[in-house]
Amino acid sequence: MTKKVGVLALQGDFREHLAVLRGLGADAQPVRRESELAEIDGLVIPGGESSVMDKLTRNFGLAEPLKAAIADGLPVYGTCAGLIMLADRVLDAIEGQQSLGGLDVAVRRNAFGNQLDSFETDLAIPELGESPVHAVFIRAPIVERVGDKARPMSVLTDGRVVAVEQGNLLGTSFHPEITGDTRFHEYFLSRL
Ligand code: GLN
Repeated sequence: MTKKVGVLALQGDFREHLAVLRGLGADAQPVRRESELAEIDGLVIPGGESSVMDKLTRNFGLAEPLKAAIADGLPVYGTCAGLIMLADRVLDAIEGQQSLGGLDVAVRRNAFGNQLDSFETDLAIPELGESPVHAVFIRAPIVERVGDKARPMSVLTDGRVVAVEQGNLLGTSFHPEITGDTRFHEYFLSRL
């Protein structure tokens, strides 16, 4: 049966995620309303600006239903701002910024400096096969602390954590939706 995957479509690069997921044969749909949450087998939270995404999520009445769905075991994959949304603790948040939480991690926003400090690198991620994953970081967060419940999935050469997994949740500091390497999306779909 075709998996139905939602992409939170309030802000950020949700169109890129929809295109990748559809290219992999999934029935991918934008999610903007609570009613649309009931219909999906998994959800992607895209990159963008977490402080804006947080405000919109609360204004659209989606924050509480999303928290409940996460607690209920809905598989969720967050990239960049999406990872920030999934983190239990957000460092360098703006005043009043909240996250949905679920991932037992502390994430620092904009950990590599401003937009000019965006960079690309290759990461070894054994779960995704032998060839390295080319990762694009754009004003990216870093996972500064990984709690007992979460597991680091990939680290930079200096040891800083940039991908984590915890039960139904997956988070990456970087943006697999813009590189043409679909292995993260395939990995996520295989777990739905
Ligand atoms: N710096 C952004 C934030 O704090 C994340 C950037 C991104 O998603 N590419 O939300």
